[in-house]
Amino acid sequence: MAPQKVQKAVLFTRLVGYAFRMLFSHLQRVASTRLAAWTALSPTLVDASDVKNIVVVGAAFAGYFATKVLANSLPRNGKYRVVVIEPNSHFNFTWVLPRFCIVEGHENKAFIPYTPDFFAQAPDGIVSWVRDRVLTVGKTSVRLQGGEEIPYEFLIIATGSTVPDGLPSRLGVDNKEEGVQLLKGVQAKIRAASHVVVAGGGAAGVELATDAKHQYPDKSVTLVHSRPSVMHRFGPELQAEAMKALERLGVDVILEEKAMPGSADGTSIDLKSGRVINCDCLINCTGQRPASDIIAELSPDSISPTGHIKVKPTLQIADDSLPNIYVCGDVSETHDSNPNSRIAARQAQIAADNIVSVVRGRAKRRTYSPEFGDGVIKLTLGLDSSIMQFWDGKSELLFSSKETDLALMCRGAWSAIGAKPFVDTGVYKGQSLTAHEFLSRDRSDDDVA
Ligand SMILES: Cc1cc2nc3c(=O)[nH]c(=O)nc-3n(C[C@H](O)[C@H](O)[C@H](O)COP(=O)(O)OP(=O)(O)OC[C@H]3O[C@@H](n4cnc5c(N)ncnc54)[C@H](O)[C@@H]3O)c2cc1C
Repeated sequence: MAPQKVQKAVLFTRLVGYAFRMLFSHLQRVASTRLAAWTALSPTLVDASDVKNIVVVGAAFAGYFATKVLANSLPRNGKYRVVVIEPNSHFNFTWVLPRFCIVEGHENKAFIPYTPDFFAQAPDGIVSWVRDRVLTVGKTSVRLQGGEEIPYEFLIIATGSTVPDGLPSRLGVDNKEEGVQLLKGVQAKIRAASHVVVAGGGAAGVELATDAKHQYPDKSVTLVHSRPSVMHRFGPELQAEAMKALERLGVDVILEEKAMPGSADGTSIDLKSGRVINCDCLINCTGQRPASDIIAELSPDSISPTGHIKVKPTLQIADDSLPNIYVCGDVSETHDSNPNSRIAARQAQIAADNIVSVVRGRAKRRTYSPEFGDGVIKLTLGLDSSIMQFWDGKSELLFSSKETDLALMCRGAWSAIGAKPFVDTGVYKGQSLTAHEFLSRDRSDDDVA
């Protein structure tokens, strides 16, 4: 067999092994959750002032999944509760944002309601939901936007990443109504344009450019990317397939150039080299960075040059003076080749498991290391096709498929996070609190106790 074929066969075998490991770990989780429920103690009366907070900052793929593990596995004696702090009214399903900048009529599906049903196997009341934003982390408490402080015994930082310009990668607003309006605004801008320029040839840029040209074949669509090939963080075969799809659809691709956003004047835009191209609609898909600011004051040395928060293999922050702070998801520095939702959720489980171990007085800690199979990417290449890539750094396996659902994986995502597609039950089903309400409730509990 040719060496390349051997490498692909090895990769395929590794993939099968990976799938079995993931299945085993999933079954283990299901079993341990059932066991926790069966062996549940009836809640003993813990004095309200003795209840300890495990605060989770951010509730997306990392924070929401960490909360579920904690809620299902903490001792059921009322001593610990999980306090989620999240500014967004809904879980923002980022994967579909570039698509919904083009395709109209599905915007609502990108906003999945947070619901207590996600924690249905956990004891009632173990999760408190505070709709707010953490400004800074202190040694024993977090400070919120309005100045309130919420104390913590353990903290999980799951603040993900952020972009300077909002769409198409993130929304930059915290409620669904505004988010829907922003999506409609970008759709209208692209619909009205003649010369669309997309800056950044990573996944979001390639998806948006191919969707735009597929939807509007008569418009000129140009993708400008600073590297020698699009999708440069992925293997050469995926890069070539993405390039082929862009060319087939008629997207102009300009490589090793940068669009200078400040120069866009409504009809043209300058590139870094001085070249000027037609542009009456610029979509910026660059500039994503980890949302690590909240820890900058307390532990500046834990922030890496890329802005990620450095962690130990146990996902504790890499600062020996802060053993009760854990970090997971996009904001953590774990050197994964393609940080994504699966990785965020797997890290979340490890961080949460380790907190449960400490609380239960167990010595064993789980550690995180990148798994090549987690780096899989599914990239849409126009409205009706996609390609999936597994890559171990040496060899690639690519699977092309036809896409029939314009809303991509929305239905599955809603179900996976406990919501009924597409029924919007509102903000944490009416149970979310402001920081003020949360703290006042605690104070009145203290009075009763
Ligand atoms: C356009 C796009 C498409 C993608 N497609 C895919 C895909 O197809 N498959 C895949 O697996 N991955 C995909 N990803 C990557 C995936 O979305 C991320 O890896 C994943 O969302 C990371 O989850 P997270 O919870 O770490 O962070 P995030 O999703 O960034 O969530 C962070 C959460 O923290 C909250 N937060 C932030 N700061 C604060 C604060 N100070 N206080 C309180 N809360 C705060 C935010 O509101 C947010 O809810 C895509 C990403 C983008 C941008």
